Amino acid sequence: PVVVSLNGIGKVFENGTTALDDFSLDVREGEFVSLLGPSGCGKSSALRIIAGLSDPSTGTVSWPAERSGQEEHVLGFVFQEPTLMPWATVFANVWLPLRLKGVSRQAARDRVMEALATVGLADFAEDFPRQLSGGMKMRVSIARALVTRPKVLLMDEPFAALDEITRFKLNNDLLHLQKTFGWTVLFVTHSVFESVYLSSRIVVMAARPGRVIREMEIDAPYPRE
Ligand code: ADP
Ligand code: ADP
Repeated sequence: PVVVSLNGIGKVFENGTTALDDFSLDVREGEFVSLLGPSGCGKSSALRIIAGLSDPSTGTVSWPAERSGQEEHVLGFVFQEPTLMPWATVFANVWLPLRLKGVSRQAARDRVMEALATVGLADFAEDFPRQLSGGMKMRVSIARALVTRPKVLLMDEPFAALDEITRFKLNNDLLHLQKTFGWTVLFVTHSVFESVYLSSRIVVMAARPGRVIREMEIDAPYPRE
C-alpha cells in the first residue's frame, strides 16, 4: 500500500524561486526510496512539504491510510545536522517528541530506551551531546525520530557532515535496521553511492524545474536478504 502520495506538486517561494514543478511521487510501505539529485534541485523542499513544514504552491499530498481513517500518520524527520539540545541529556533529547505530546519521563522511559538501544546507544542515555562523537550525535537524532514509531522516516542528507568511515558505518547500520524492522524510508542525498547502496528505488531529480526525471527499482548488486 501507498503510505504517502505527492501529486503535481509545485513550489514557488516568495522571492520567485521555483523549487518544484509538477513533482509526483508515491512512497509504498516498506520501501527505501532515495531522492537523488544535485544541490538546489528541490529535494529538501519536497521533504519539507511531505513533513508539513512547508506548504506546496500547487498539487496535493495525501496519506491514503489516514483518509480511510485507519491510522494517524506519524513521521520522523532526521535533519542534516543532529540539532540536539546541548543542555539536555541524550535521554531528554530523545524523549522530546513524546514530551511534546504530553508523555511524562517515566511513561516515556521504555520507548526512549528502546529507541536508544536500536541505534546502539543504550549505555549513553545520561551523557550530554558534547561527550559524543559526530556519528553518535547523528544516531541520537535518529533515535529521536524513531521514538514515536513513525510510519515514514524522512531523512535529509543525514550523514553529509560526517567523515567517510563514520558515514559508511552508519549506512550499514541504517540498511540493517531498515531490513530488520521493515521501515519505510525516504532518504534525500546527492550521493550516487549512497542511493545505490541503500535504496530499493532511486528517484532522480533535475533542477530547473525541480521534478522527477527518472525512477529506478534497484535490484541490489549484493543479496538484500
Ligand atoms: P536541495 O535540497 O535539492 O538542495 P532545495 O529544496 O533546498 O534543494 O532548494 C531548491 C531551490 O529553492 C534552490 O534554488 C533554493 O535556493 C531555493 N529555496 C529553498 N528554500 C527557499 C526559500 N525558503 N526561499 C526561497 N528560495 C528557496
Ligand atoms: P514557506 O513559508 O513558503 O512554506 P519555508 O517555510 O520553506 O517556505 O521557508 C522558510 C524560511 O526560509 C522563509 O521564511 C525564508 O525567509 C527563508 N529563506 C529565504 N530565502 C531562502 C533561500 N534561498 N534558501 C533557504 N531559505 C530561505
